[in-house]
Amino acid sequence: MDLNAIWSGANPTGYEVVNIGEPVLRERAAPVPEEALGTLELAVFLQNMAHTLRESRGVGLAAPQVGVARRVFITHLPEGIEGRYVRCSPSPLQVWINPTWEALHEEELGGMEGCLSIPHYTGRVLRPARIRVKGFDHHGDEVEQTLDGRNARVFLHEWDHLEGILYLDRLALTPQGHPELYHKASWAQIEAERRADGDDAWLIVRGLLP
Ligand SMILES: [Zn+2]
Repeated sequence: MDLNAIWSGANPTGYEVVNIGEPVLRERAAPVPEEALGTLELAVFLQNMAHTLRESRGVGLAAPQVGVARRVFITHLPEGIEGRYVRCSPSPLQVWINPTWEALHEEELGGMEGCLSIPHYTGRVLRPARIRVKGFDHHGDEVEQTLDGRNARVFLHEWDHLEGILYLDRLALTPQGHPELYHKASWAQIEAERRADGDDAWLIVRGLLP
């Protein structure tokens, strides 16, 4: 099964996304066994994951979020997303199985994150600006890539799910020392006002403008 079939195949089943409070979100996920790579069973699981991601309008989904404590996640950054975030490239469906990463330099960027398992909230998180990632695709072929900006952020957010870490654990602090967590509705209003004011410095610090 190729990636197009995984993304848009017929008769997918949507999974229920579990919310914060479910113990599986705090477990360290186990590797996907080598013998599962390239199997139809795995392809069907990924197809259902992709369907769930599309229906939820998310950019990434990790197996623990559908109750499966295995080291696999998918990412999909749609066309047009580069207009909204600093350093973002549209990216087709990508499958990451047993992935690893290393930071390529010390710079960290702040940016806003949300999570399908934490509805209604968004928060600012510092992440390495550029990373080298390795993993396996759904055929079991090794994949190696360099990711930066938003693309690195989405990968790292999903990788954290495999470790039982949520973005809430990594919130940046305001100058006053408060964790930067916002209700999505109030965040949308704050962001719209700052954009209308042309407050570029504020938008740049939060990773919303290049
Ligand atoms: Zn998440």
